[in-house]
Amino acid sequence: MEIKIEHVSKKFGDFTALDDISLTIADGELFFLLGPSGCGKTTLLRCLGGFEQPTTGRILLGGEDVAGKPANQRNTAMVFQGYALFPHMTVFENVSFGLEMKGVPPEEREKRVNAALRSVQIEHLGGRKPNELSGGQQQRVALARTLVVEPGCLLLDEPLANLDAKLRRDMRQEIRRLCKDNKLTGVYVTHDRQEALSMADRVAILKDGKIRQIGTPLEIYRHPSDAFIANFIGETNFVPGKVVSVENGQTAVETAFGVLKSDTASGWKAGDDVQLSMRPETLSLKNGDESCVNVLHVTLKQTTYLGEIADHIAVGKDGSELKFYELNPISEMQNGAACELKVRPQDVVVLPPGKEE
Ligand code: ATP
Repeated sequence: MEIKIEHVSKKFGDFTALDDISLTIADGELFFLLGPSGCGKTTLLRCLGGFEQPTTGRILLGGEDVAGKPANQRNTAMVFQGYALFPHMTVFENVSFGLEMKGVPPEEREKRVNAALRSVQIEHLGGRKPNELSGGQQQRVALARTLVVEPGCLLLDEPLANLDAKLRRDMRQEIRRLCKDNKLTGVYVTHDRQEALSMADRVAILKDGKIRQIGTPLEIYRHPSDAFIANFIGETNFVPGKVVSVENGQTAVETAFGVLKSDTASGWKAGDDVQLSMRPETLSLKNGDESCVNVLHVTLKQTTYLGEIADHIAVGKDGSELKFYELNPISEMQNGAACELKVRPQDVVVLPPGKEE
């Protein structure tokens, strides 16, 4: 089911929780809403599910304008963070409840409940009550309960937030598989960037009720549109500088580490104040005689050996710091050692100056 959100705003009194959001989610897509606490993710999800009504703008689900339609008349199903299972009902009854409400006859109900329990691998737990289940099992019941009504769209509000770290990682691919196997359009709210990067077809990053960037996980991670996104989606080094030239699709920027070239070409001209974003894994030690486009002369300040990687902090001539990782370190490095780092132009992102938390 395609979802179209057109100029949706939502106000609570004077406070604007959503500010002119427009976006289209394709049929069958697993789409993530990612952003810091309070940015409006849950409010947008609740507007899709019919638990809130937008103050202005339109929402089209499968081409139908759903203005004013309550949750139970929409072709959507929501998985809540706290699961909201009925404590006095068995797993089977919890999953069956939605079908009963729709007047599905008992025989068909049993078939569909069993199929839903099978798809989340808890067929053997149908007779238990929610308090006799682990957090992960409760989460599966919540998923089965939404899948069983065969919605066109699954709305997931931080569904893994109550699980421990390992289970959370294991469930990521399982939720993705369930959405894809059932050809569901999924809208998934989280503030966990790894959840979004590892599961999403596309991600929208929200801040203060506005969409700041939409893209695939790779696009957002490698080509953030501003410093907030670059920092929110992963660790990075920001280095201030001034553009010295834009030639042959490359932007050259004068920095405290020397002139660095970036494959980001669009929009910049000589004299512009900018900042470069370089992620720690894109910087590495240069071999003595290797010829590289970008060489940074630094002094090692701090090294933390972690087995598969070493985590280094280096400083430039002006004292500014750069974090970089060394994969598979085979020898110890001494603090105070002078060294040269390299970074490929395709890994250097030119951004407007200025930061925001
Ligand atoms: P979190 O990750 O903390 O759940 P979120 O991005 O999902 O955050 P929302 O729950 O959508 O954020 O809330 C967005 C803003 O709207 C917040 O500042 C919140 O306090 C406010 N808000 C949400 N619901 C209401 C309400 N019913 N009345 C007043 N303000 C509200």
